Amino acid sequence: MRWALVGASTIAAQHMIGALRGAGQDLAAVVSTTPTRATDFARAHGIPVASAQLDRVLADPAIEAVYISSTNEKHHGQALAAIAAGKQVLCEKPLALTVSEAAEMVRAARQAGRVFATNHHLRCAGSHRAVRDLIRAGRIGRVLSLRLFHAVHLPPHLQGWRIDNPDAGGGVIPDITVHDADVARFLLGETPVSVVAQMAASGMGQGVEDSAMSVWTMPSGAMVLSHESFTHPFAGSGLEVHGDKGSIFARGVMTQQPVGEIELVTAQGRESVPYSPHNLYAQGISDFLSAVAGQGSPAATGEDGVASLAVALAVREAARTGQRQPVKVPA
Ligand code: NDP
Repeated sequence: MRWALVGASTIAAQHMIGALRGAGQDLAAVVSTTPTRATDFARAHGIPVASAQLDRVLADPAIEAVYISSTNEKHHGQALAAIAAGKQVLCEKPLALTVSEAAEMVRAARQAGRVFATNHHLRCAGSHRAVRDLIRAGRIGRVLSLRLFHAVHLPPHLQGWRIDNPDAGGGVIPDITVHDADVARFLLGETPVSVVAQMAASGMGQGVEDSAMSVWTMPSGAMVLSHESFTHPFAGSGLEVHGDKGSIFARGVMTQQPVGEIELVTAQGRESVPYSPHNLYAQGISDFLSAVAGQGSPAATGEDGVASLAVALAVREAARTGQRQPVKVPA
């Protein structure tokens, strides 16, 4: 397909352009709010059209799909415009700043008959898929708890709007908790019903939180413990799933790379678990293209993006109020 990139962003430059081209996709245009940024980005990446006018690019019928990776507050309006123009849309997380805006995006795509997907890359990882397969195969029995360790150190080149601009959707909760919410939903196949949480500015955040810890109650009764931060240089990432017949330890897997180790521990002993080391973003694009071709769903649908945002915003509200919050996902 012929694509427009909406947002001259780091994620597009570092991961998505390669993933799209690797899947044989034609990158026809890039849209930025700043004309010079659009031009520089287009030149750097060999994209023929650079524009600061989204409407003009969307009016081109040759463009069939749009990848949105602008700052978070822009996703809603840009996605609605792309859907109204008849495009297939892959949108970055968080889908929007509010759950109702995100749900509106999903509804619009459904009414227009277009694929609308969320770029939750972690569920595309071979490691995460292997963990889910172990759970589904009953290897750890009944799931009792999931611990998510996602406290990282935000690199200097990303310490912009994420750490000081609430209006652009800054803060670790919309940035990383939203991913962890998707991981929990993907692995356990259920959505938290309520959360308790605390958040803090621990050295990087100015006017937004840079650290959060929360506990989520799942419908099955399983408990989820989740930790996200921008300020932890050496914490390492990972997840653990504990069941009444075994435990899964996945270390170093909350990342953009196909790396990390998985170990299964049961009464039979310890075993290392192999997984496919494919590129996470390439897998996401492959699943998106299949969905456009009418074969299956994208890796993370728009509905998945609404649900992950609902969890993340409930975490923030629980931390703000000090009160347990219900997770309300619109039907
Ligand atoms: P960037 O800060 O790199 O880019 C976001 C926007 O900020 C750009 O679209 C651009 O706006 C503007 N911008 C970027 N650099 C500059 C600059 N030097 N000067 C002025 N403006 C600039 O963001 P990210 O790539 O980190 O994130 C973009 C989106 O992707 C977010 O929604 C984020 O949550 C998501 N993301 C998802 C990941 C995933 O794995 N799924 C990983 C990382 C991010 P404009 O285009 O208008 O010029």
